[in-house]
Amino acid sequence: MRVCWKFHQQYHCQIVKGSRIAGSPQLQIPPLPSRIEISGMLPENLRIEDTRLRPIAEKVLAGERLSFDEGVTLYKSSDLLALGYLAHHVRVKLHGTRTYFNVNRHINPTNVCVASCKLCAFGRRPDAPGAYTMALEEAYRIAGENWSEAITEFHLVGGLHPDLPFQYYLDLLRGLKQRFPNVHLKGFTAVEIGYFSHLTRLSIREVLEKMKDAGLESLPGGGAEIFAPAVRRVICDHKIGAYTWLKVHRLAHELGMHSNATMLYGHIESAEDRVDHLLQLRKLQDETHGFQTFIPLAFHPANTELGKLVEHTEASGFMDLKNIAVARLLLDNFPHIKAYWIMMTPRVAQLALRFGADDLDGTVVEEKIYHDAGAKTPQALTRAQLIRLIREAGCEPCERDTLYRPVIRTETSITVQA
Ligand code: SF4
Repeated sequence: MRVCWKFHQQYHCQIVKGSRIAGSPQLQIPPLPSRIEISGMLPENLRIEDTRLRPIAEKVLAGERLSFDEGVTLYKSSDLLALGYLAHHVRVKLHGTRTYFNVNRHINPTNVCVASCKLCAFGRRPDAPGAYTMALEEAYRIAGENWSEAITEFHLVGGLHPDLPFQYYLDLLRGLKQRFPNVHLKGFTAVEIGYFSHLTRLSIREVLEKMKDAGLESLPGGGAEIFAPAVRRVICDHKIGAYTWLKVHRLAHELGMHSNATMLYGHIESAEDRVDHLLQLRKLQDETHGFQTFIPLAFHPANTELGKLVEHTEASGFMDLKNIAVARLLLDNFPHIKAYWIMMTPRVAQLALRFGADDLDGTVVEEKIYHDAGAKTPQALTRAQLIRLIREAGCEPCERDTLYRPVIRTETSITVQA
């Protein structure tokens, strides 16, 4: 299919010729693989310093599923190069050196939030300095700003606003879809969906149905944090628990929407908590096959209450790479593992492409949530910068749409391969 770009008022609009583009409700989404088939021999030249990893390595190379205890062993090992070798082996079996990125824009319609999660530096009370809520026209204007590269995805997340009616979000989705009909709308964490259900007294399924009807096409993975109740009580006790988070995603998958999943690490959680979190995700994926990508997120402590409780400053590069590698090894039914450059810096994200990650996320354009928590990374990368990072790592860049279909660009057109 071929899409031409031309100015319409102040926006670039995509004019579809011939067939439909990403996000069309009529599009048939190819099913994700239910299990990843991997097999191979343990190479003689593979140096495993931590002998506890040897039987796990044999299972990985034989394509066998790893257990809870093996996951804990992976996390407790310091043999990062062996973990990286195994995770990269899985990544290459799945994707070769192909590395995905997309051209997207984040829109955070409000930072007003009734919850007071200790992990968060983004949410504000309505009367707090810096609190904002975008009028709909403002959100549309921001969506169309600096449109130097044709965007294929809007990523929408915000706080839990006590007074904004649910209709605001439906109007936001409809208005964006009307103005940018071919941009995929990925938005609203399970926490926000649960809150809309609470506000409106609609069931979660009804909320999702109404949002889908208004243009929502997939869900991001935020709000999962760590599922372990004891940790959750400390870091985000106002949020929905694991049961509801997983229920929102299960229902979204049942309604035909794909979603992502995250895990926040580097605060007070244990290795066991991380493995428990990953295996709960793996179990749901076995049922629904609706997750596309897993994104490990490092805790950024600046300007957070939780930052005062933890001893260290922020997760190390070592922990970032280990989380990528362990996720790739445990989540044998997730097609993609993302190194979110905003969180782990472009430098470490680039290294992660050799430790199991096959996706760098996107151009982002304006990121608020991690930057409020002290992220020193840029707020945007260009398409050319992402491509350079990927090529330098010896990988093959592949621009994707939200559903991981390759996007081919020329100066005047953009094509999404089915
Ligand atoms: S993490 Fe989300 S729900 Fe919690 S305070 Fe921040 S914006 Fe609100």
